[in-house]
Amino acid sequence: MMRLRLYDKMQICERDSDMGKCMLCPRECGADRTERLGFCKERREARVSKIMLHKWEEPCISCEGSAGSGAIFFSGCSLKCVYCQNMKISRGGAGEEMSARRLADEMLKLKAAGAVNVNLVTPTHFTDRIVEALDLVKEDLGIPVVWNTSGYEKPETLRMLEGYVDVFLTDFKYYSPELSSRYSSAPDYAEYAAASLREMVKITGEPSFKGDLLERGTLVRHLVLPGAYRDGIKVLETVADAVGAGKVLLSLMAQYTPEFLEEDYPEISRRITTFEYEKVLARAQELGFTGYMQSRGSATSVYTPEF
Ligand code: SF4
Repeated sequence: MMRLRLYDKMQICERDSDMGKCMLCPRECGADRTERLGFCKERREARVSKIMLHKWEEPCISCEGSAGSGAIFFSGCSLKCVYCQNMKISRGGAGEEMSARRLADEMLKLKAAGAVNVNLVTPTHFTDRIVEALDLVKEDLGIPVVWNTSGYEKPETLRMLEGYVDVFLTDFKYYSPELSSRYSSAPDYAEYAAASLREMVKITGEPSFKGDLLERGTLVRHLVLPGAYRDGIKVLETVADAVGAGKVLLSLMAQYTPEFLEEDYPEISRRITTFEYEKVLARAQELGFTGYMQSRGSATSVYTPEF
């Protein structure tokens, strides 16, 4: 039975007032970001590289026929994958600093423009600043807040989001420490992704909808990588073990493109094959996941916003 819907798609921050050692993400750099940069290469204040109405997220996030998802793309990244499609912002330094007040106002502007939600993209390294902004709009926003993350999160940090975030849109990229180490310099990725996923589901509960819109819940994305379908299968099994296939939605992505790939990774300098995608898809179906699958035509940079 086909339960996946095909679509075209293209230790928390220890701060003494304003000073402190940043421990927001699993890197735990301990950097005082007013003085020096940690792995994410970002200072204390939030920086934003783009704000847009995004129509190409999963159907329950962008809602066909609507103005789209109100995406706020943050600069920098605490993971930094070698194949990142948003390389210009995750490493390129593009972006504008925004106070909590300005960020809050931008969220309200997105709502006024018809956004069906506020979609915070790569937000982890600014968690404390974003919570300040959400606190300012908590009463007035009235649309779901989506935390769109790499999955490399600390459960303790996620707890700061309780009462502020309605939907987690999280990647679960790798099972193997060899792959997560080679492509994202994070050998402990799967360990943190699984622990964080448990926390996310605890915060949001099971998926619930208002019409086509996901109002609350956790949606797990897995991007199938070339040569790594067996790892993809282990990822799905880990998700099912951690929280249960029925407690989350799954988005199985075929859009990997080597267009943004750094040099020295010849083994992933191609798109995935139909065989690879279908192997992972078959396991998703066996495990009883519901959610979304992508058409192979999504493997193009056409769906990558310009920064
Ligand atoms: S958010 Fe940045 S500075 Fe803080 S621990 Fe993570 S990578 Fe290091």
